[in-house]
Amino acid sequence: MEQIKNYIRGKWVDAKSGETFQSINPANKDEVIGIVSKSGRKDVDEAVKAAREAYEGWRLTPAPRRGEILFRAAEILLKNKDALGKLETREMGKVLPEGLGDVQEAIDMGYYLAGEGRRLSGETVPSELPSKDTKSIRVPIGVFGLITPWNFPIAIPAWKIFPALVCGNTVVFKPSSDTSVCAAKFVEVLVEAGLSKGVLNLVHGSGGEVGEYLVSHPEVNAISFTGSFDTGKHLEAICGAIHRIIVTEMGGKNAIIVMDDANLDLAVEGAIWGGFGTTGQRCTAASRVVVHQKVYPAFIDRFRAAASRLRLGDGLQKETDVGPVINESQFNKILNYIEIGKKEGATLLLGGKAYREGNCSKGYFIEPTIFGEVTPDMRIAQEEIFGPVVSVIRAKSFEDAIRTVNGTSYGLSSSIYTQDVNKSAVAERDLETGIVYINASTIGAEIQLPFGGIKQSGYGRKEAGGRGGALDTYSRWKVIYRDFSGKLQKAQIDK
Ligand code: NAD
Repeated sequence: MEQIKNYIRGKWVDAKSGETFQSINPANKDEVIGIVSKSGRKDVDEAVKAAREAYEGWRLTPAPRRGEILFRAAEILLKNKDALGKLETREMGKVLPEGLGDVQEAIDMGYYLAGEGRRLSGETVPSELPSKDTKSIRVPIGVFGLITPWNFPIAIPAWKIFPALVCGNTVVFKPSSDTSVCAAKFVEVLVEAGLSKGVLNLVHGSGGEVGEYLVSHPEVNAISFTGSFDTGKHLEAICGAIHRIIVTEMGGKNAIIVMDDANLDLAVEGAIWGGFGTTGQRCTAASRVVVHQKVYPAFIDRFRAAASRLRLGDGLQKETDVGPVINESQFNKILNYIEIGKKEGATLLLGGKAYREGNCSKGYFIEPTIFGEVTPDMRIAQEEIFGPVVSVIRAKSFEDAIRTVNGTSYGLSSSIYTQDVNKSAVAERDLETGIVYINASTIGAEIQLPFGGIKQSGYGRKEAGGRGGALDTYSRWKVIYRDFSGKLQKAQIDK
């Protein structure tokens, strides 16, 4: 069993309190994956101090050199992909192909952002005056506090740490307690890739104590947070009051529209993987399916049949389609939402209970659950459940479907299955989400494009790549005017 420590100023260290907590396998609660340092405020102080002291040196390290470290990190991740993917499955519960996919996302991000070390471009534009030049350049922001959830325990840290570093920031990283071992292994990769001491610091511990103290720490310049809306909103308020930059990526109530002309085979497959992939624990999970009334009965039959064939189990076993949910509190929350759905009058079409057969008796398993005849105002159609529960809603028309999809407080991702090119264009224009998929499920991001949502799904700038993606989040613009006329400024203004 691994002893998982903090990483501060280039050293693996215990929490000052000497206390620890356990990270366990959600597929088998008896299996402890790591004994983790339980940090407090003093550990955060140390980590922030180390990041502050390292900032000058790192800021002045040429960006191409910073990028080379990310390239090496991507190479090391690639070499260790198998072991890291298996660790993810053991610590977080997702099935192995998804664990490997998560590591691949970090590899892709590393290679992509390594290249940014040689770009990081600004603009040069003509000046209004002769003998003057003007440009904007990207500069780092300072010490970044990065707070991550458990559902993509290597990819999301990579989405934040890589761009923060290539832009010249130093980092204090606070991962979810549920996936502390994955976080430590990811930091080990960056250490092996050659980061100098203090540039990246890792502090394990609870969100309420360690995370919140980090967010409000006077020596931190900016925060990037991914997690639930309730936590994110709370942190936005803290940062607003102390004039601190914060970027939040939060929950979703994503929906697939299935139109009457849809290819139902594709739509059913999309609803299965969008709804039950990662056991429904993706921010982009398709927790609602809005089906045109003409194909509603046919869709329900096929969707229920396909979902009933999904096999629950330990994600390391080849035959497993759906793993456990992450922890006891999520397990209870999901089962509670299933009760809410029943009380609201939705029709339970499949699942609806904990699953304890065979080797699932020691884990947090919940049957893939489908509710039919859900109305758009029900809580199960409005609130993020974050588990294997899908609400199917009947739509009278295309317009009605769009209205239903837009009728929640979230706005992360949406999708439409249709063969009508005009309808797909209107959906692309009118769906109020940060990401829209056409004839594909609501999941699956590519790192060379910006990622993020609107409304309660996101605040501030975006993650990942492309224009407006990570570089805009982790750097700021500085504008330079250089006058080489040698003339008095007033004389030039009066020209
Ligand atoms: P969470 O909000 O409970 O925790 C997220 C992180 O914040 C954890 O590291 C946690 O320790 C920390 N935290 C909790 N309370 C804190 C506080 N008071 N101050 C500072 N930090 C605190 O979320 P979770 O359960 O880990 O993750 C699931 C949520 O994340 C879902 O809502 C999901 O939709 C969302 N998510 C969003 C995206 C996205 O990109 N939009 C991606 C993945 C997950």
